[in-house]
Amino acid sequence: TDFGIDNALKQLGINAANAGTSTGVDNFGSGPEIISSSPVDGAAIARVNTTTRADYDKVVATAVSAFEQWRMMPAPKRGEIVRQFGEKLRELKEPLGKLVSYEMGKSYQEGLGEVQEMIDICDFAVGLSRQLHGLTMHSERPGHRMYEQYHPLGIVGIISAFNFPVAVWAWNTALAWVCGDVCIWKPSEKTPLCGIACQRIAAEVFAENGLPEGISCLITGDAQVGQWMTSDTRLPLISATGSIRMGKLVAQAVGARLGKSLLELGGNNAIIVSPEADLKMTVIGAVFGAVGTCGQRCTSTRRLIVHESRYDEVKQALTDAYAQLKIGNPLDENNHVGPLIDTDAVAQYESALEKVEAEGGNILVPGGVLQGSGYESGCYVKPAIAEAENHFDIVQEETFAPILYLLKYSGDVREAIALQNGVRQGLSSAIMTRDLREAEAFLSAAGSDCGIANVNIGTSGAEIGGAFGGEKETGGGRESGSDAWKVYMRRQTNTINYSTELPLAQGIKFDL
Ligand code: NAD
Repeated sequence: TDFGIDNALKQLGINAANAGTSTGVDNFGSGPEIISSSPVDGAAIARVNTTTRADYDKVVATAVSAFEQWRMMPAPKRGEIVRQFGEKLRELKEPLGKLVSYEMGKSYQEGLGEVQEMIDICDFAVGLSRQLHGLTMHSERPGHRMYEQYHPLGIVGIISAFNFPVAVWAWNTALAWVCGDVCIWKPSEKTPLCGIACQRIAAEVFAENGLPEGISCLITGDAQVGQWMTSDTRLPLISATGSIRMGKLVAQAVGARLGKSLLELGGNNAIIVSPEADLKMTVIGAVFGAVGTCGQRCTSTRRLIVHESRYDEVKQALTDAYAQLKIGNPLDENNHVGPLIDTDAVAQYESALEKVEAEGGNILVPGGVLQGSGYESGCYVKPAIAEAENHFDIVQEETFAPILYLLKYSGDVREAIALQNGVRQGLSSAIMTRDLREAEAFLSAAGSDCGIANVNIGTSGAEIGGAFGGEKETGGGRESGSDAWKVYMRRQTNTINYSTELPLAQGIKFDL
């Protein structure tokens, strides 16, 4: 291919003919094949063997036994392994970034950015490996000491979406590994090669350190394979990233066995553009947020809530900016917008545009599917803007495509906040304003109800240092920075009596 994909695959050691389930460097998936194909040019990249139920049980057994050894390794020593993994990622950043771009369709820059996020979370996890702190408390009983500690949890099941095919896994694994857990990952069936590439890199590091197979495991397949994980009591935690529809099914299956789930689901993110917004920053934030990754980020900007006093100006600036967007091969760095993941996603995009018109919306920047040279995959679409109302059914939904809805408000910032919060999802939100009162109202207890709330920044593009996730139908989970690590461990309260008496708590007397 033109952009060095074959070479990238070679550097990543991917054996396209025999790729699939793995607990180590060798793959042994024996189920039916899935074809990984690229939305960039429609080409089939590789055949991937999926995981059978028997393969799955073998993987879990390997993980169970690896956990017994891994959990006893001191956390800072586990951190050293994660440090080496981060080093390998630095060496392979370019080929891995390229594979992400080619298999998923995001720009090469964004592919590299995803690998950089993996590197960053490894660095974070290395430091964290010396800071898995519990607290100590003063006991009410004489001669007693009380404290809490965090222990490894066990096998973490990771189910991930196609749109961040490598970073979401690293957000989970880098933390889970230093916490002493082992991981079984089922990547999206739309991006299995990204999974295989990551698994190879990790497995190599574990093998080089004489560690057993099974600390990092990969299984491949669709929802059926995911369901084996969600109903499996050997997996105490399921971390699932994807659609709200999927999250509800996962939550029920894991809840039915009283397991823990960490859910990172869809968003319906808005930027409020106040009378005090900086126009230039607003346009950059909104356009990148709406068309970056072809509108396929969980934090993509879906709604722009614009004060009527700025509406015409913002509308004009956006129309001008959209006219300059270059759509095409994401590996070509001159293009701003790459393809959607597949033709099903294209159909959903077209249907959303029909629906917004049917509900009374006005198409400001028309969409459309691109055809002809360079667009043979059928996955390239034009980013669109529609003037709409927040209550439209289609505006209430997350359509995973570059469609931006322009909404107008006329009152004060409270009206804008009510519109911003007036959806079922609660992931990312932003306000563009130079007014301190508006900014603080937006961040207050009566402000944005999202897990992420930004001032003078768009909705998309988070740093790994903060906890990432959202409220309401976004699922409530938190990953990545801050104290998100705690979900990967089990907490234990310990009380030690070093006296010669046995006093009971709450002063209860029990004389024999
Ligand atoms: P999807 O829900 O179709 O699939 C996600 C994963 O879930 C896949 O691996 C799939 O095989 C698996 N799956 C589906 N049904 C399952 C079931 N019943 N049991 C177990 N596993 C099951 O999502 P997608 O189209 O790949 O990704 C897009 C969605 O992901 C969007 O809604 C986006 O907002 C969301 N997303 C959220 C975040 C976040 O952090 N909040 C990040 C990335 C993507």
